[in-house]
Amino acid sequence: MDTILPAYDDPLFSILIIIVLVLIVSISSLILGNYNEKNKRNSLQKFLGGFKKDKTLLKIEELPFEEAFIKPLTLLSIAFKNQGEYQKSINLNLYLIENISNFYKKEPLLEELGETYLKAGFLKRAKLIFLEILQKHPRNKKALRYLGIVLELLHEFDQALATLQPLAILEEDTKSLEAHFKLSALLDNKKLSKSEKVAKLQAFLSEQDYPYRRIIKALFSLDLEVAWQSIETDKIASILDILWFLPASKLNLEIISKSQILSSIYLAKGYIEPNDLAFKSNIFTIDTIVSAKQSGSEQVDLCFSYGCNKCKHHFPIGFERCPNCYAIDSIQVKESLVEKRLTKGYSLL
Ligand SMILES: [Zn+2]
Repeated sequence: MDTILPAYDDPLFSILIIIVLVLIVSISSLILGNYNEKNKRNSLQKFLGGFKKDKTLLKIEELPFEEAFIKPLTLLSIAFKNQGEYQKSINLNLYLIENISNFYKKEPLLEELGETYLKAGFLKRAKLIFLEILQKHPRNKKALRYLGIVLELLHEFDQALATLQPLAILEEDTKSLEAHFKLSALLDNKKLSKSEKVAKLQAFLSEQDYPYRRIIKALFSLDLEVAWQSIETDKIASILDILWFLPASKLNLEIISKSQILSSIYLAKGYIEPNDLAFKSNIFTIDTIVSAKQSGSEQVDLCFSYGCNKCKHHFPIGFERCPNCYAIDSIQVKESLVEKRLTKGYSLL
């Protein structure tokens, strides 16, 4: 033994001890790292296991996994999602996530899965997926934004507001989102009285980040007098559909008579009689209907559609968040002339 090991007082002995210690520390870290990674993988698989109760539409589970599958199957799952084939997209994502061990490689797939659950209406599953991502990567802005959307749709507004703090720390502009969540929370609040809600809505109107259209729509349901007092001429184009579909019983003729544009709208609608004054709204469709009426034609009506100024999609009904891209305050009201049908009017409120 003495021939193999150097003597205790030999400097070579100290170097040998240091090498042995470094080796022990490296091997322990490796074993511990692998153990932790395996634990994380097992916990994620257990977590995802709860989502596999749906009928399998693709026989994907039987396919032996290869790294080369990741890109084409990811593209296929996105294509399925865009076509509305959500269950197929979900199954592909689950297959990939279960077979990829590195979290950062599967993070975009988890984001995709959460988004697909959201699109498919599985809000609680989407919430769990985004929380799972944020548990491992708290600075993921996309997951924070999507979690806010899911919480809003679940009417968990306080929690939705809580997602804004980390986003603000990550230097994201959260002012409009904060106004959006606070307004949604106020309108959903069952404990506040009508007058308390109206007072808060009036306060929101004076703040820049709050959406005018949503507040006016709510005011018309809560307090007609305040709603009419809050009409701003330069913003009428954004609420033209709300004004157009108001029943005659909800009109404030005193305020309407003092405004050229409001008078034109309700003359076009047929709620007020034309007088000698030439009304002009500077809204092409309204002025066309008024001119048609003056020529004796009552057969022209307005039809509304709603566009998103972010993704440019169009929808037949209005929205507070774009159903396609989830943008807020992006609605564009578009009116067009149509032939009048003999149907009863309805209100948007
Ligand atoms: Zn959109």
